[in-house]
Amino acid sequence: MKEITAIEFNDVISSGQPVLVDFYSTECPPCDALAPKLDSLEKLFGNELVFVKIFRQGNRELAEKLGIRSSPTLLFYEDGKEVCQRLAGGIKRSDIIREIGHIAGKEKTAKILSDVKPIVTEADVAILGAGPGGLTAGLYLCQAKINTVLIDIALPGGYMATTHMISNYPGFIEPQPGYMLSHNMSEQTKRCGTVYKVAVDVSRVDLVKKEIVIDNYETVKAKKIIIATGTTPRKLNIPGEQEFMGNGISYCATCDAKYFDNKEVVVIGGGNSAIEESAFISKFASKITIVHQFDKLQANMEAQEKAFADPKISFMFEHEPRSFSRNGDKMEVEVEELKTGRRKMIVSDGVFVFIGLIPNLSMFSDKLRQDEWGYIKTNEDMQTSIKGVYSVGDINSKKYRQITTAVADGTIAAIAITRELD
Ligand SMILES: Cc1cc2nc3c(=O)[nH]c(=O)nc-3n(C[C@H](O)[C@H](O)[C@H](O)COP(=O)(O)OP(=O)(O)OC[C@H]3O[C@@H](n4cnc5c(N)ncnc54)[C@H](O)[C@@H]3O)c2cc1C
Repeated sequence: MKEITAIEFNDVISSGQPVLVDFYSTECPPCDALAPKLDSLEKLFGNELVFVKIFRQGNRELAEKLGIRSSPTLLFYEDGKEVCQRLAGGIKRSDIIREIGHIAGKEKTAKILSDVKPIVTEADVAILGAGPGGLTAGLYLCQAKINTVLIDIALPGGYMATTHMISNYPGFIEPQPGYMLSHNMSEQTKRCGTVYKVAVDVSRVDLVKKEIVIDNYETVKAKKIIIATGTTPRKLNIPGEQEFMGNGISYCATCDAKYFDNKEVVVIGGGNSAIEESAFISKFASKITIVHQFDKLQANMEAQEKAFADPKISFMFEHEPRSFSRNGDKMEVEVEELKTGRRKMIVSDGVFVFIGLIPNLSMFSDKLRQDEWGYIKTNEDMQTSIKGVYSVGDINSKKYRQITTAVADGTIAAIAITRELD
């Protein structure tokens, strides 16, 4: 891709041809993940758009003037005017193609894509999921000189990347910001030689044939597969939840707590996540009401003690939410007192839901042995019921789900696979 500077910017975007501009930075893993996608798309759509990149740190004034807040950020221009949706962060190939489609036209885009020749990538091991479990498996495998491809629908890090502070990962005296631990783990595995295919669409997985199709055109064929796809926050499935998801209801304190500075929030749940994340939300919010179905909390004692000592936090035990609604700027949670069946409304500025997790297994059509909650059952080598398929981390049937336990599973699966491949 051609590199331009702020001085050339205006001439390029006004040249008469549509333009895609990539504002990138150095030492930026999402920018590194995006670069090969842009190179391959330039080969396909180079006649429809001009592809250029600008070094953000070196052209800071222009970046600030354009309101660029993160790297990479993709902007699209036609006749000197910005068009389409800006894309930032973990940008998928399909996102870029969608926006190009607005410029080149749907038919032309589809025609160009229909000429794309599918490619096959061979690997010894394919890992699905780049959270701590998948990253550790990747590290051990590449150190054993095993050709490994690590695939994730998002950027590496899993839950680690969005956890505010991590105080229980051994080796660090002070609590570590989750994004930093995630960055270090990811860079360690990448530098060792593991091939990353991140922020991709996983189109199809055949566990028996050991084939994974990504972005609808690349098939990764492997001898072994490790599933490390983790979990997704459980939903309440009550009226209003779907409607206000991301618009009043959040499942991620690290992502959204900052928007509740000096505001009142409701937290649903009483386990580790709910109580630990409430401590974080308390840095911002003026009042937190925790709604919990049982008569006591299920979180670890240390977290409980902190929560009980926090003057901003109050509790509604033996209550369950029944519906969400909005009244102007306010969120309303209708709660039921379980003993009496009496219902009342709690009015707040926002709601956080932390009521547990469900395993990310829906992309597998092959039947894996699971426990009663849907988590994968493995033997002590992390091998699943399908030959050559291993699973690690939170997706496994186990009692305790932590970064350390995911890392341990990843270690075991990688060593077991190394022995088998030897
Ligand atoms: C709010 C919160 C706070 C936490 N705090 C702590 C803490 O302080 N200390 C601690 O030890 N643990 C903590 N945990 C638990 C810890 O984060 C998890 O146990 C750990 O991250 C599990 O690692 P994993 O690799 O199994 O999965 P995850 O971290 O969930 O990573 C799974 C990865 O798989 C990817 N993926 C999903 N579907 C697909 C697919 N179809 N194809 C490819 N990739 C896919 C995801 O994008 C993700 O990157 C916390 C969890 C939460 C929710």
